[in-house]
Amino acid sequence: MFIKPRRVTNVPSYLFNEINRKKRSLIEKGVDVIDLGIGCPDLPTPAHIVNRLLEEMKEPDNFKYAGYNGCLEFREAVAQFYKKHFNVDLDPETEVLALIGSKEGIAHFITASIDPNDVVLLPDPGYPTYRTATYLADGIPYSMPLLRENQFLPDFSMIPAQKVEKAKVMFLNYPGNPTAAVADLEFFQKAVDFSRRNRITIAHDAAYQMVTFDGYKAPSILQVKEAKEVAVEFGSLSKTYTMTGWRIGYAVGNREALQSLSIVKSNIDTSQFLPIQKAAVTALVSEQNCVREYNQIYRERMNSMLTALQEIGIEADTPKGSFFIWATVPEGYTSNEFASKVLEQTGVIVTPGTAFGEYGEGYFRISLSVPTKRLQEAIHRIKTKITLGV
Ligand SMILES: *Cc1c(COP(=O)(O)O)cnc(C)c1O
Repeated sequence: MFIKPRRVTNVPSYLFNEINRKKRSLIEKGVDVIDLGIGCPDLPTPAHIVNRLLEEMKEPDNFKYAGYNGCLEFREAVAQFYKKHFNVDLDPETEVLALIGSKEGIAHFITASIDPNDVVLLPDPGYPTYRTATYLADGIPYSMPLLRENQFLPDFSMIPAQKVEKAKVMFLNYPGNPTAAVADLEFFQKAVDFSRRNRITIAHDAAYQMVTFDGYKAPSILQVKEAKEVAVEFGSLSKTYTMTGWRIGYAVGNREALQSLSIVKSNIDTSQFLPIQKAAVTALVSEQNCVREYNQIYRERMNSMLTALQEIGIEADTPKGSFFIWATVPEGYTSNEFASKVLEQTGVIVTPGTAFGEYGEGYFRISLSVPTKRLQEAIHRIKTKITLGV
């Protein structure tokens, strides 16, 4: 017999598990399903990164435990990366922590920064882990609505005073999943000012920081002068270098916050396999041609999809970053109804906006991380099979 604690039963089942169940049952029925639901890049990890892993696999010293905070070479590479791309100085010893994927770090960071019943401010719609990890840490999530009229940026002045008072952490995520919205330094400055005034730590999820288009360069929140007083930024190699399965990311910024995260983590995991950390070094410090090349592929896919959506009368902004399109559900449908309709009429999975929070109602997310040919097929079906109007 096993009785789940409330901490676990409170957690809504992970969105993508449900979508995967739906997908499997359709495939069993013989439907040729095209999954534009999940955000896992289809492109291969670039060869120079894989080759470094193979090299490091020949060195038996690499088979031991890595240091809790990650090996120094990795932390130095992250510091070098921040200097090169953002002109931000980081001390690799105290201001950089290796993560087993940024999701791991994000989830443990909540445990590392709140007491039971503290409030966590999170973007809605947003990456589901912010909310679920808050439940697991006995915290109370508070949704900051991301509205189109505010360019999908939270309006701090709308957060009730009691919530601000009880808040310990605020999550931000730009370029954003699912909204594909971006934030400029002026917004980050505002966020830092708000956090300093209210003693809230900012956790900026920068998973798509390097997945940007048309010359747009996403800033780091640490470019704000006082940011290190209040902010931690979570980085991931998963999306930039298509290394999702490798599980490698990093947290940088405020040293006390990182110290607390390190205490939690060192009692739960013993860092990532050294050859993976070292291959990640190669990814971070090498020429970034592969990133430009992959971003160009996403950009072209995005163009084709945006054109198709326009043709059938669906509104969507042109993203500057991420590999998502955040599109408006046509009149007469809820997000769920429309996603079901698309699936029934075309066999294409899109994610209803409400999967990312109540303020996702009225939207759906299309992921462009599927092979171009499949995407073209999906576009063809959307153009020819979807009939709007009730
Ligand atoms: C994919 C994703 C992550 C997690 O990335 P990993 O480093 O693979 O754990 C975090 N945040 C957002 C918004 C993501 O889309």
